[in-house]
Amino acid sequence: MDKNNCLFCKIISGDIPSEFLFQDDVLVVFKDINPIAPVHLLIVPRKHIRSINDLAQDDGTVISHMIMTAKHMAEEISVNQSGYRLFFNVENGGGQEVFHLHLHLIGGWE
Ligand code: AMP
Ligand code: ZN
Repeated sequence: MDKNNCLFCKIISGDIPSEFLFQDDVLVVFKDINPIAPVHLLIVPRKHIRSINDLAQDDGTVISHMIMTAKHMAEEISVNQSGYRLFFNVENGGGQEVFHLHLHLIGGWE
């Protein structure tokens, strides 16, 4: 899927309405529509990158900013102490369904 027909690009551009819990120049954060945990956020770079496989050398700053934002969001929603999981699904065999890079943050279990 290219960026002209990309669900997350449409969410980022506002073509598909969504509520951002956080946003800055590099990324946006919104709730997963089909959560697999009490808390399930997606941390999504504004730049259309298909998957981890497509990262360029200078995308390292994007990845580090995504992880630092995940840490920040975990504090904001108070799952940092109880703990949480961060993961990337990579391509079909890795469970990726939306081919615009995103980091999952799940947590909030009792
Ligand atoms: P992945 O399987 O890693 O590609 O994850 C894609 C995630 O996007 C899934 O967890 C979906 O539930 C989620 N998702 C799909 N459509 C939307 C949407 N419109 N808004 C928020 N999350 C979505
Ligand atoms: Zn995209």
